[in-house]
Amino acid sequence: MTETRTAVIIGAGLIGLSTADSLIRRGVEVTVVDARDGPVRGTSFSNSGMIHPSQARSWSPTRKATQAQRDAESATRDLAKDAMPRLLSRMEELGLQDMRARPRGCYQIFPDLDAARAAQTQLSADGITANVVIDPSRTFSKPALFFPEDRSGDAHAYGCALADDLTARGVTFIYGAGDVRMRWDSVPGRVAVSLAGHRFRADDVVICTGARSSEILAPLGLSARITPVRGWAVDFDLPADFRLPPTPVMDAVSRSALTVFEDRFRLSGTWNEDSARPLLERWAELIPDVLGRAKQARSVWSGLRPVSGAGRPYIGAAPIPADRGDTAGEPGTPSRLWVNIGHGHMGWTLCAGAGELAAAMITGEREDARFAYGG
Ligand SMILES: Cc1cc2nc3c(=O)[nH]c(=O)nc-3n(C[C@H](O)[C@H](O)[C@H](O)COP(=O)(O)OP(=O)(O)OC[C@H]3O[C@@H](n4cnc5c(N)ncnc54)[C@H](O)[C@@H]3O)c2cc1C
Repeated sequence: MTETRTAVIIGAGLIGLSTADSLIRRGVEVTVVDARDGPVRGTSFSNSGMIHPSQARSWSPTRKATQAQRDAESATRDLAKDAMPRLLSRMEELGLQDMRARPRGCYQIFPDLDAARAAQTQLSADGITANVVIDPSRTFSKPALFFPEDRSGDAHAYGCALADDLTARGVTFIYGAGDVRMRWDSVPGRVAVSLAGHRFRADDVVICTGARSSEILAPLGLSARITPVRGWAVDFDLPADFRLPPTPVMDAVSRSALTVFEDRFRLSGTWNEDSARPLLERWAELIPDVLGRAKQARSVWSGLRPVSGAGRPYIGAAPIPADRGDTAGEPGTPSRLWVNIGHGHMGWTLCAGAGELAAAMITGEREDARFAYGG
């Protein structure tokens, strides 16, 4: 009799849930553990909602376009292309037809036409379709690029629906029990997972801990260059007397966006600011009429993007560090510890593809060195 393969996933954000989804489809028995008291309460809670393969490129202001960076961007673009149809079909299966049917596309506004055209040229060299437009009602009379292949949707609503579906399909969730800790096990090449005094053993342990990944990997002697980069999200009621664009509008200057959801609009983004003020000031310049009339914000939230040093996610086996000695197996060889981390500003866009790739690696169907662990 063959035993059922078991996996513990740490992190119930978009990435952990999508990994669980793809593993359970392969017959793996999955437990998902999260320090918080429910699913999608980390960075996945209140993002800008853009499913934007067009942005599979570094958002870092200090980006250096080295060959390694270009390779990372190209790998991320491929993953985003693979992820899109998977995500759309999961929306359909989860009964999120309204999300699936949202108008296509995202805009990105630029300070002037030259900047928009320069970005279009660069994107077209990378195979990304972007049309230059100036549309007073949709781009606030600014020169913009329209990305017809992008989509949008409420990531939090999707994550909650997915978590419910996973529960119904037999995934066990453990929430609110504090931070999971990890250490090497006496079984070579394996890790032990402990949570509030309780110890788990599973065939595979998958780290999907977003911006906190360096923290959980450090006690194993593994460094992960995942930098938390703060972003803000401020939600408002939809003004009754004002039409806002139904597709998201990004602002290239502030790395932020305006997204209209069913009953509210959200201003979100910016890159490592200490408060929501720069976000609100920028949009007060862009849409003074709307912000002037919007009542008090419904909510103000901030979250940390898990930005990887390599400029692309790390998906695959974690290596065993050289100093682990005989308890950890042969140094340098992969353990049964896996990571699916470092999705930066792209986690909603990539989640369905990243979950699928991780699951295919874990079950030995696929390898893809382009996403190798980058400590
Ligand atoms: C303002 C903003 C706007 C964004 N907009 C977009 C967008 O439009 N499109 C897009 O594609 N992406 C966007 N992103 C990025 C996207 O939201 C993230 O890439 C994605 O949410 C990361 O998902 P995750 O599952 O890796 O992390 P998280 O959602 O943070 O999940 C990780 C989970 O791990 C848990 N955890 C961590 N450590 C431990 C531990 N030791 N023990 C137990 N549990 C632990 C946490 O509690 C958390 O629930 C945006 C991000 C921000 C901040």
